[in-house]
Amino acid sequence: MEKTKEIINGFGKRHLQTKDRPFKYTDEVREFTDTLREVFYDEFKIDRNQFLIKTSVGQGAWAEVPWLVVLDKEVTNKAENGYYVALLFSADMTSVHLVVGFGWMQFEREYGIKDGRGRIKQYAKHYADRLAFDKSFSVGEIDLHSSGTLARGYELGAMISKEYHLDQVLPDSFKMDVGISMDVYKQLKEIVGSSVLNVEIEEKDNSDDDFSKAVAKETFGEITDEKMQKLIDQVKGGTQKRRQQFLNKIVRNKKFAEYIKQRNSYICELCGREPFIQKNGRPYAEADHIIPLGADTKGVDLPVNMRCLCAQCHAVVTHGSIEEIKNL
Ligand SMILES: [Zn+2]
Repeated sequence: MEKTKEIINGFGKRHLQTKDRPFKYTDEVREFTDTLREVFYDEFKIDRNQFLIKTSVGQGAWAEVPWLVVLDKEVTNKAENGYYVALLFSADMTSVHLVVGFGWMQFEREYGIKDGRGRIKQYAKHYADRLAFDKSFSVGEIDLHSSGTLARGYELGAMISKEYHLDQVLPDSFKMDVGISMDVYKQLKEIVGSSVLNVEIEEKDNSDDDFSKAVAKETFGEITDEKMQKLIDQVKGGTQKRRQQFLNKIVRNKKFAEYIKQRNSYICELCGREPFIQKNGRPYAEADHIIPLGADTKGVDLPVNMRCLCAQCHAVVTHGSIEEIKNL
């Protein structure tokens, strides 16, 4: 562990001056990019078969935030995807953060900068709530004293973190902290798996949710005005409350769905019903997955597993009794 600490402290001290000069891999820089990587594997007993350690000080130009990441090869082999354990230096080189966080670029690519920022923050919060870790770690966004988009992404993607000031030698607890981070990384892998963006976060109105739950409970009996009034009273005042809800929902490919509908001229493949025209002037139909999507059923989100149905038939094949489905 001593060598790791030495390299990190030394790099922290020198890099501000190094950054003032044109980009170049000097021996000093290589000590961080090459030597640290090897030392990190050895001193923290990181399994080379399972994990990939990468380092970066930039490409062609100095990065605002130099980093080292540990990636589980089953999750990703790029720091921009999936999630990682990382050492992130602040842009002013005053501190280094040990972080378990999400790769930023996958969010920027999928949602753009603005929405991506909201999303990655929601993800970080959501998962941090579900992880067990030492109380000495902080939760959520970190401050890298940076201004760039990329670094902002690193800041927002942090789930849990610990900051070490570089004017002091890294504490002995650093070794344990890396161990804790690696353990959290394993927990995360069990929860998230290999596909981060496979989960959709939706903000849902709390009152709606409570209302439908309450209604679902009551509809099995006779619905009386009295019962309805009780329900209304129960959910009153809840309209301002919002909460984040995670739907463990597979994100479907909208283009395939559109293709299937167009291929069938929006005509129902089961009953032959013609589509109705929507407010936007386009015909309406629904794309149905013949074998449902999901890990249990192994249905695929590909045209070969899709058909074009009218709303009625789609509802029947999804919710109908076996008799009803046979009748179709
Ligand atoms: Zn139909």
